[in-house]
This record gives sequence, C-alpha cells and structure tokens, in this order.
Amino acid sequence: MTEKLEALKAEIRDELDGLSDDLIKLSRRIFDNPELKYEETRAAAWLTEKLEEQDFAVERGVGGLDTAFLARCPHGGDGPTVAFLSEYDALPGLGHACGHNLIATIGLGAGLGLCSVMDRVGGQVLVVGTPAEEGGGGKIELIDAGVFDEVDIAMMVHPSDRTLVGRGSLGVQELNFDFSGEAAHASSQPEEGINALDAVIATFNNANALREHTKESSRIHGIITNGGKKPNIVPEQASACFYVRAAELSDLEKLVEKVKNCASAGALATGAELEITEEDHAYKPMEPNPVLADLVEENFEALGEEVEDYEGGMGSTDMGDISQEIPAVHPYIRITEEDTPAHSEAFARASNSDRGYSAMLTAAKALAMAGIDVLGNEENYRQIMESFQEE
Ligand SMILES: [Zn+2]
Ligand SMILES: [Zn+2]
Repeated sequence: MTEKLEALKAEIRDELDGLSDDLIKLSRRIFDNPELKYEETRAAAWLTEKLEEQDFAVERGVGGLDTAFLARCPHGGDGPTVAFLSEYDALPGLGHACGHNLIATIGLGAGLGLCSVMDRVGGQVLVVGTPAEEGGGGKIELIDAGVFDEVDIAMMVHPSDRTLVGRGSLGVQELNFDFSGEAAHASSQPEEGINALDAVIATFNNANALREHTKESSRIHGIITNGGKKPNIVPEQASACFYVRAAELSDLEKLVEKVKNCASAGALATGAELEITEEDHAYKPMEPNPVLADLVEENFEALGEEVEDYEGGMGSTDMGDISQEIPAVHPYIRITEEDTPAHSEAFARASNSDRGYSAMLTAAKALAMAGIDVLGNEENYRQIMESFQEE
C-alpha cells in the first residue's frame, strides 16, 4: 500500500510543478488587487474560474456569503471528505500583509493536486473559499450555515516567519463595556456626579490584578474608547473595549466571566450603570488535530521543509472555530526572515516574493500529499477521528 501511496504523491508533485506558473500568476494577481473582508469579489472569481477550468463543480455564494464558494473535485467515491480552505482577504492600508494571496493558491493548488489522482482514491475533495478571516469571521458564518456539515477533515496553511505544524491559536472574545453615570460640575458640585470614567479606570485596575492569576498564554488587552468630554464635567458616559484570549475554550469562557466581573465591580464601586456587549464573531481556540499534524509534518519534511519546535506568542483565527467542529490543521510555512511580524510592510513584500511563491508550492504539495495519507489509508483516518473524539 505504501508504494502505491508514494506513487500517487509523486504524481501530485508533478501535477503541481506543471501548474506552478499558473498558481504563481494567480497568487500575484490577488496580491496586486487587494480586497478587504467580504469584498473579495475578484479573488473569488479568479479562483473559481481556475477550479471550473479543471472540471470542479463550483457553487458560488455558499452560506449566504457573496464571496464564499465551494468547489467539488469531479472524481472520487465512498470515503471521507477532505476540504482545503482558501482565504483571500487583505488588510486596510497594508494590502496582503498577512499573505492571504498565498493561502488562496495553497488551498487551490492542494485541491487541484489531490483531485488529479482521485480517480484512484476513495473519498471526496473540496476547495472551500472562506472570506473575511481578518475580523469578519467568514468561517463562522459558513459553519452556522451548514457548509461544513459534509466535511470530515479541513486543512490550510498560513505563511509565517517560521515553519510550524502543531501550533494552535488563541480563542478571542471582544467585550465592550459602556458605563453611564451622572454629569455634574467637576469642581463646584462633584458630589452630585457619578463618574463613568472612574468605572472604566477601576475596570482596568481590576483586570491588571486578574492578569497575575491567569494562564501564561492568556491575554487581556483593552483600550478606552470614550473617556469623557472635558475635565470640568464629571464624565457621564465612558466606555472601554477589551479582547480576552485563551488557548482553550473552557479557559476562555471562564476568563471572559472574570473580566466581566472586573467591569461589574467598577460599576458597583462608582454607582455607574454598566452595559456589556459581546462581539458576535468571537474566534474559538485553534486546537490542531495531533494525528493530522504529524501527517502534514512528515510531508513537509519529505519535501525538504524544515519544521521547527517553537513556543511563542499566538494570535487568533476563525480556523479555530473549524477545529472545534472537525479535525483540522492550520500549519505555518516560512516565507521570510525570522522575527518578521505578519501585518507589516516587510511581510507584505515577502508575500509577493520568489521565496513566498516557492513556499506556496511546497505547502500546496504537502497538503495534497497529506490528503493521500488520509484518504488512502483507513488506519490514519481512524486515528484522526479517535484523537478528535478524545479532545
Ligand atoms: Zn492576519
Ligand atoms: Zn492571516
């Protein structure tokens, strides 16, 4: 069996080498035409055109999102369904400084590569276009609309300054605290006022005390969005916005409650009224499936890509929400020098560099090859499902 799978993987590599000029051209085109979340009409159109050209059956606007799509490989049979995810939204002012132009063609390439041998493998292969990762939570909308109901396993790769496979991401919840007090002359009648800004400041002080007693990876960071109008008016309205993050869903839920209590205590202490609004699109923590991660790592290494062990700070992504529903991985591939942060101009340059495009091809190959390990080997699939259920 191994020999047969290795031969299929070699075929996939050849197929992707043959498609490399097209993939690079398309990735560069998306880079040159950055589109913000939920406005990615051109990127979605170009990706789906390419998929149709390769005989994929494409549904546009899935899940009620204009710039989402679901594309099915025409070959396959009974067995699990593997989806490769493409992101293609850019950042305001910075263009593709998160390298989603590369993610777009990694997902596309992985789908085309694996599909090219699906006449000899059971299962189904999909490419799913997922808009608005940068703060829009497109994948959450697609989950809620049932788009992932037919998917057993989801994979994507994000560019980075390191190649990391089993790394997760933090769940994040945005909390808005609006305090209402009582205006008064701050000097002649301060005793008549209720100071909403004091409630905000108390919230920050309480959160700072809480910080000492959270897990190492948890994060609490806030800003004051309204601090009053003039020093001689006791602030009647004041507001703060916090992001609360944690590596596990249960920790995130507990920490969110504690941070809300910090604000409630501020309200109680000052006599201000508190209104709490939770952002709809909180991202859940990314918990990579360990068996699937090992398979991707083996294929990265077979392609000569060195995988690092690294425990550093983490961000958040809506791929986390996918990983809470089905086994998923979100590895990173290095496209630039170490310590080049994403969302920077240097990272944008790397996302449109020879090194970036070469990493894009490696990642597409690795995902398609891991797809062979999943669809061509029942034991791998069984272990992936077993480890998912254990979590
Ligand atoms: Zn980003
Ligand atoms: Zn990103």
